[in-house]
Amino acid sequence: MNANSPVFRINQEGYAPGLPVRAAVLAGEPVILKNACGEVLRRLVPDISRTDPASGDSVSLLGLGVLEEGDYELECGAARRRLTVREGAWNPVTHALIKGLYYQRCGCGLDPAHAGPWSHPACHTAPASLWEDRGVRRRVTGGWHDAGDYGKYTGPGAVAAAHLIYAWKLFPRGCSGDLNIPESGNGVPDILNEARYELEWILQMQRPDGAFHHKLTKQYFAPFIMPQDDLEPEYLMPAGHCATADACACLALASRVYRAFDEAFAGRMLQASLRAWDWLLAHPEFVSFENPEGVRTGGYRGRTDTDDRFWAACELFAATGEDAFRETAEKLYESGLSLTQFGWADVSGMGVLCCLFDLREAAGEILFSRLREDFLRRSGEALDLSRASGYGTALPADRYVWGSILPILSSAMAMIVNTLLTGRQDMRDAALLQWDYALGLNALDLCFVTGFGERSVMNPHHRPSGADGIEAPVPGLISGGPNKCYCYPQTREKLGDSTPPAKYFLDETPSADTNEIAIYWNSPAIFTGAYFNMLSGG
Ligand SMILES: [Zn+2]
Repeated sequence: MNANSPVFRINQEGYAPGLPVRAAVLAGEPVILKNACGEVLRRLVPDISRTDPASGDSVSLLGLGVLEEGDYELECGAARRRLTVREGAWNPVTHALIKGLYYQRCGCGLDPAHAGPWSHPACHTAPASLWEDRGVRRRVTGGWHDAGDYGKYTGPGAVAAAHLIYAWKLFPRGCSGDLNIPESGNGVPDILNEARYELEWILQMQRPDGAFHHKLTKQYFAPFIMPQDDLEPEYLMPAGHCATADACACLALASRVYRAFDEAFAGRMLQASLRAWDWLLAHPEFVSFENPEGVRTGGYRGRTDTDDRFWAACELFAATGEDAFRETAEKLYESGLSLTQFGWADVSGMGVLCCLFDLREAAGEILFSRLREDFLRRSGEALDLSRASGYGTALPADRYVWGSILPILSSAMAMIVNTLLTGRQDMRDAALLQWDYALGLNALDLCFVTGFGERSVMNPHHRPSGADGIEAPVPGLISGGPNKCYCYPQTREKLGDSTPPAKYFLDETPSADTNEIAIYWNSPAIFTGAYFNMLSGG
């Protein structure tokens, strides 16, 4: 099957009825679309006169229209590729992306009933030492392993949990299925059960003075061993502004959502959030987090905390109704924010979600009307980027960075938000191309989610996947994807200077620079998947 697949690039998890079906073709001959009975439905002539700048491919993005449920085949010369259209096409992959976070759980065993062959005993249960005062030890357990490593980082974790919470708030029908996790059946949607596992850990990362430790890691990344075998001492690293503001925002958001399920938990989160805010007020001067001498784990340095404070002020205004938070959020907004970014390095888009979908008119003229217009204008940039790409990918050729999947999915989120506000179908359809990208409609003909698609990532930079002796990687994890901006010398040696950015990728375990996984890459994929899964009847 699909022996000649390189001619076509498709969403390998299929398409949904009622939404446009697009496929990329890399040949100039006429393309025929047939249904399962062999009847010709469409004849299209690709225009491959344009070279896609990011991939170097002469490629044409074919619009196949909206198709009924069924199996189809694309033909181009001798090349054939099957594609399917069905209701709920993206339900399994969307829920697997959430379950992927369960596999990242730290501090507990993953039992065979929930983890199947990927089960393992509890890890990282020993007390951690304060980096700045080694004699002080605290037992801080739980949370998700951040990425391919076993570190845990407050800011990225808070953003990832918030993506899940907003996915549930905005698109509950797209992400509320049973995940077969230990809490399943407890009356709370599993996506919120999974997010709570991270929230409980974030709460423990708060210092008595209200600030949050930046991270809980060792001095160095572990070798490729299973988490339960990683016994080097862990440290609560110094506190930071971004970590504190992101935890503050996420906990205020979560306090509103979990109140319906657990009043006491919601109360704990709001109190922690308010104490974090007090610390931020008492420490107005931003200090960038720097790894202490001798520490080599992830940095996650923010360049500013303006966006983080903005998000926190918005969420606290929504949680308390106190005007002081709104006034602070207005000042921070007027100081200049991108508004369309949703990743850990710039969380201003998260504050936009709060203002436009939670607070709405209650946000006032500046944070609702003005911010809305501002957002709509700026999110047009994502659409322009998608239109400029041969594959419809909303990323310019020179921005294939470490974890390029994040800016691509962040653009998807911006365009989804635009669609929710305006009903614009061109925005929705361009957002869908980013989801298609993640699932195979890309220059590599690769589904970036482990365990899904016809051709998917097999060797992610992920310690359990590399050390468990199982051929298949842990499922439901999304690879960071091509990176030509900050790659390893050994990657450059293999791919050289001439490989185009969108193909700068190695499905090899050592290549953290192109093939790592991360909780905060899964999470925007969950948001995007939940939206399209909802539309596709999943
Ligand atoms: Zn662990």
